[in-house]
Amino acid sequence: MTKKHNFSAGPCILPQDVLKKASKAIINFNNDNLSLIEISHRSQPFVNVMKKARNLVKELLEVPSGYSILFLQGGASLEFLMVPINLMKENEGKSAYLNTGTWAKKAIIEARNFGEVNIVGDSSDKNYNYIPKGYSIPEDIDYFHCTSNNTIFGTQIKHFPKVPSLMVCDMSSDIFSRKIDMNKFDLIYAGAQKNMGPAGTTLVIVKDKILGKTGRKIPTMLDYQTHISKDSMFNTPPVFAVYVSMLTLQWLKDHGGVEWIEKINERKAKMLYSEIDRNPLFEGIANKEDRSNMNITFVLKDSNLEDKFDVLCEEEGISGLKGHRSVGGYRASIYNALPIESIEVLINIMKNLENN
Ligand SMILES: *Cc1c(COP(=O)(O)O)cnc(C)c1O
Repeated sequence: MTKKHNFSAGPCILPQDVLKKASKAIINFNNDNLSLIEISHRSQPFVNVMKKARNLVKELLEVPSGYSILFLQGGASLEFLMVPINLMKENEGKSAYLNTGTWAKKAIIEARNFGEVNIVGDSSDKNYNYIPKGYSIPEDIDYFHCTSNNTIFGTQIKHFPKVPSLMVCDMSSDIFSRKIDMNKFDLIYAGAQKNMGPAGTTLVIVKDKILGKTGRKIPTMLDYQTHISKDSMFNTPPVFAVYVSMLTLQWLKDHGGVEWIEKINERKAKMLYSEIDRNPLFEGIANKEDRSNMNITFVLKDSNLEDKFDVLCEEEGISGLKGHRSVGGYRASIYNALPIESIEVLINIMKNLENN
């Protein structure tokens, strides 16, 4: 059996080696003749998994001291409300958001339940095909929120703004894909299923000293401090998702870490964008300077060719290339685990379509 070329936007491709180890752990974890998913999360073998996952995050992203690393549930979508409830002051709370797409908009909707939201930049006028620039952020806000990579529209923030208060970022679809300076961020969150592991856990990295300052009564499960004080084990953690995330992070570390994968990601993206720009049949959707290295959106200029292109893709084992319904066209999600060979196969199909 040859595996498909998996361009899925999420849940997404994971390294084959990780899947093998994960499937073994489902039957016999740690050679204890028990499954990973039938042992206590308080048992030493699982406590070690959680600890290792945390340490790998710390090491790979060079997280300085003073930050906590959490593995929570509820997806990035729950963070849309955990962020404001933990950071926005109860009285006259004020935040600033960059509206760069579907996910940013969902975050904004939740924040409005807790205080004032200033939209400081907004690219909805062009169906989010660019990242707003040159906007100013008010001084008197509790925090600023942005989305580093817009999974659906295929844009990515290349230069993060200077923020007069706390900097919060949804990095769901490009975490561990490029180097970031953690010192510039006060809170980062990411659903695991784009670049870190299977669905079911959300990574949160939060600076400890920013918490507990809102004057708000926060429900226990929604309070970051609850999860910090219990090492992400206040309640039963998603053991499988944390374990597979740990394996994926170990895979990344063993190969050379974020610096290594960033170079490969740049090369992969460049290969595909070059073909989109060269091939007269295709056109990119996102503004060139804001193009994402993770989600590459494009269209066939002549939509009559779509059926033929789709058949060629299917014949070559390409999966998950269809664009999101709000954008149309195609989206090649080329996350960390997608091999260069899969990009080459796609490029060859594009060339074949041109030459036939
Ligand atoms: C997928 C995605 C989300 C939503 O994640 P869930 O874990 O499904 O809640 C949020 N933000 C971004 C940027 C995403 O790509």
